[in-house]
Amino acid sequence: MTNPDTAPQEGYLLLADISGYTEFLTGTELEHSHAIIRELTRLIRERLTPPMRFVKLEGDAVFCYAGSDAFRDGERFVELIESCYFGFADRLLDMERGTTCSCDACAAIPSLGLKFVAHYGSFIVECDDGSEDLAGPDVILVHRLLKNRITEGGGPAAYAFFTEACRQRLPEDFELADHRETYGSFGEVAGGVYDLNAALQQMRENRREYVGPADADLEVNIRMQFPAEIVWQYFVDPDKRLRWQPFQTGVENRPNTGGRMGVGAASHCAHGDAGDALREYLDWRPFTYFTNRFTPLPNGPEIMPLSTETVEFTSQEDGGTSVSWRIRLEDRGEKALSRFEVVRQQLESNLPTLWEAALSKALDDDGRRRSRAR
Ligand SMILES: [Zn+2]
Repeated sequence: MTNPDTAPQEGYLLLADISGYTEFLTGTELEHSHAIIRELTRLIRERLTPPMRFVKLEGDAVFCYAGSDAFRDGERFVELIESCYFGFADRLLDMERGTTCSCDACAAIPSLGLKFVAHYGSFIVECDDGSEDLAGPDVILVHRLLKNRITEGGGPAAYAFFTEACRQRLPEDFELADHRETYGSFGEVAGGVYDLNAALQQMRENRREYVGPADADLEVNIRMQFPAEIVWQYFVDPDKRLRWQPFQTGVENRPNTGGRMGVGAASHCAHGDAGDALREYLDWRPFTYFTNRFTPLPNGPEIMPLSTETVEFTSQEDGGTSVSWRIRLEDRGEKALSRFEVVRQQLESNLPTLWEAALSKALDDDGRRRSRAR
C-alpha cells in the first residue's frame, strides 16, 4: 500500500479570502466583529465543501482542495466559486439589513468582501489525527497569490483569479481578464481574473424561469444520500448523466456565447429509439435548480412533447438532497393534456424507482472510487 503521506496528488487548490478583514477586526468592537467573521467563514466553508475538501482556516481565509477527478471539467469548479460568492453577498446584505446595532463593527459590514485564488497543481496530503494538511511548491504558490495587485491595478474588488494551470481546465471560451504577477523564486505567474460582482449582477438580472409543483403537468421526486453540489453534476455533465439516465444514449453540451453552461446554452440528448431532444437552458442557478425548454427532435417516436422543464435540488437536514423533476407542457389544450395523462401516469409510477436505483449506484460507485483514491 502506498503511504498517503508521500504519494503526490494532482488537483485544485483554492483559497477564499475575506477582504477588509484586518481593518474590520482592528478598528471595531471585537465581540460583534468576531461573531460576524465567524458566521461568514462558516458559510464559505459550507458552500465549498463538498465536493472540495476543507484543509484549514487561515485567519480570514478558507483553504480547500479537490482531486483532479472531483469535477468533470473546471466549469463545475467555477460554479462552486460563484455559488459561494453569491451566498456570501446575500448573507452580507441580510446582515446589513438585519442589524439594528450601531457599533462600528456592524456599521462596517458593507466594507467586507470576498476574493478567491485558484491554482491547479500537485501536492502531498499529510494526514494527522483525522485532519489533513497540504504541502508542496504549488501549495506555497497559491498562498503567495493572495498578495497581488489585481484590485489596486484597476481590477475588480471581488474576483476569482485562476492561474494558467487552472485556466487550462476551464471551458475554452470562458472569458477572463489576463493578469500577471511576479513572486520571487516562482518568477512570473500568469492567469485570468473573473469579476464576481459582474457575475452576481448578471445572475440577479436574469429572469427567473421556474416550473413549481402547482404548474407542473408531471412531477417526479427522488431522494439521494449526497449533497446537492455533487448530485447537480450528475444532471448536467454528459458523462455522469449517461451513467444513470435510462434510455439515454448520448448527451452533448453546447455552451453559450460566454463559453459556459447556463442561460443560452443547450444540450442535445439522444435516447436511442425514443428519439432525440434539445434542452435550451432558460435559467441556471447552481446548485438549486435549472430550467430549460424541452424540444423533441424529429427522429423516432416522441414521448415528451414541447415543454418547459425544471430540475430542482433541495438540501435535506441529513446532508442528502431531494431532486424534483417537473414538466409543464407548452400546449395547454385539452387534447394535448389528456394525451399526456397516460405518459404522466406511466412515468410518475416507474421513474422514481428506476432513477433512484441507477443514480444511487453511480454516486456510490464514484464515492467509493473517491475514497480509494485517497
Ligand atoms: Zn454591533
